[in-house]
Amino acid sequence: MQPYSDSNEVAQYIAGSRTAGASQRSQPVYNPATGAVARQVRLANEADVATAVAAAQAAFPAWADTPPIRRARVMFKFLELLNRHKDDLARMITAEHGKVFTDAQGEVARGIDVVEFACGIPQLLKGDYTDQVSTGIDNWTLRQPLGVVAGITPFNFPVMVPCWMFPVAIAAGNCFVLKPSPIDPSPSLFMADLLKQAGLPGGVFNVVQGDKEAVDALLAHPDVKAVSFVGSTPIANHIYETGARHGKRVQALGGAKNHLVVMPDADIDQAVDALIGAGYGSAGERCMAISVAVLVGDIGDQVVAKLAERARSLKVLDGMNLAAEMGPIVTEAARQRISGYIDQGVKEGAQLVVDGRGFPGSDAGPGCAEGFWLGGTLFDHVTPEMRIYKEEIFGPVLACVRAKDFAEAVQLINAHEFGNGVSCFTRDGHVAREFARRIQVGMVGINVPIPVPMAWHGFGGWKKSLFGDMHAYGEEGVRFYTKQKSVMQRWPESIGKGAEFVMPTAK
Ligand code: NAD
Repeated sequence: MQPYSDSNEVAQYIAGSRTAGASQRSQPVYNPATGAVARQVRLANEADVATAVAAAQAAFPAWADTPPIRRARVMFKFLELLNRHKDDLARMITAEHGKVFTDAQGEVARGIDVVEFACGIPQLLKGDYTDQVSTGIDNWTLRQPLGVVAGITPFNFPVMVPCWMFPVAIAAGNCFVLKPSPIDPSPSLFMADLLKQAGLPGGVFNVVQGDKEAVDALLAHPDVKAVSFVGSTPIANHIYETGARHGKRVQALGGAKNHLVVMPDADIDQAVDALIGAGYGSAGERCMAISVAVLVGDIGDQVVAKLAERARSLKVLDGMNLAAEMGPIVTEAARQRISGYIDQGVKEGAQLVVDGRGFPGSDAGPGCAEGFWLGGTLFDHVTPEMRIYKEEIFGPVLACVRAKDFAEAVQLINAHEFGNGVSCFTRDGHVAREFARRIQVGMVGINVPIPVPMAWHGFGGWKKSLFGDMHAYGEEGVRFYTKQKSVMQRWPESIGKGAEFVMPTAK
């Protein structure tokens, strides 16, 4: 199967086919390693969104009526195809996002986890039943799909984040419209092809490429019953408010500023390894990246010295080079934004220990001179008033903050407006337990730098990192994409006592 279309244009996928759509607007898709335009992406307009939603709506009755075990069989087949093509997908991710190939393979693997979870949908949809809830009456609950649901996803995980959504939604009997990031749009179409090959009926899964115009059309469309969003906090907030105003169920996952606390009793080398991997992996463009190291007690100077040595020697290379530890930044605009934050940190008085600005792309490999490159950057003596502490930078910039003790570290983190992920490195079980209980953050790692929950646990932050009640995937995902119905039944033999005017109670 062809990963890319022959026309070198990425467009829509509606009712089981790739289609150009009605919109004439498009934007370039870059290879961030070289800075070259690789292809164009067509940006859907309101008419394209209406066509996609209509296709999904038309497919919904039959798909919702398909027995869950048969929907699961399509998922099993899709799983098999994903496994067969996982390296094709990883290559597509590296080509448009820039992250190193092995990291892209990891992304695909974490997406596959959720597909495996969705294969268990018959068990997950089982309801509750009470025999004889009252004399001659039984009561049960079941969960039914919502209808057409939409997913709006960020650039940083073009395979994994859509997979947090559509496998569960579809397996539960919904029809789906995905609006991926236009920065790295190609994997979405390849997954659509794989779903078709797996036997998914046309219209059950659709893709509209695009930007704000397509998103606004999805938010306003009366047939879209629920919206899952993952992206930055201001947009998450907008999606949540607008979706709710249009009567939709919304889960909107936002940005992050994740801290890793190093306690004085921690294994320092392990903590440094964790900080380097979680701070600079995927060039810091992960919502679970660690961007703040909280160094507790008197270990600060020792940790910073080791971090500096490692940050300076990071292998910043073209992502397809298997020796690469970090690839390019996703776009030139993002590179400039991150550089601006480094300038800002210097202005605010933080100590710039390692400066990634000016990293020469030519060092990253042949053809990379014009790519979007930055080296790893390390700040020390960052304080809570600084913008580089408060705001999400979303790049390879690690800020070290000093805290006098555990209580101060916890207080600092709890006062931050984001609450996605957090980690504590310690050898003390009591400290670990207190940390996990007291910290105001949705996903907690103890000696684990990036605690992304497995497919059956669900993913979600707290505070400004998530708008809505339910986390992504896992059983929370199943609940999000279904609505509960309660059925109470009585058969004729027991009927005929005449009208009852008091609140029914068990008899
Ligand atoms: P983004 O918010 O710019 O874009 C996310 C999606 O929203 C994209 O599909 C984009 O096309 C669309 N969009 C952008 N501007 C819009 C607008 N004005 N109106 C309507 N739609 C709009 O985010 P991004 O730069 O693609 O991704 C990085 C961000 O995502 C970071 O903030 C990161 O922390 C966050 N993220 C969060 C999680 C999480 O689980 N909490 C996971 C991954 C990424």
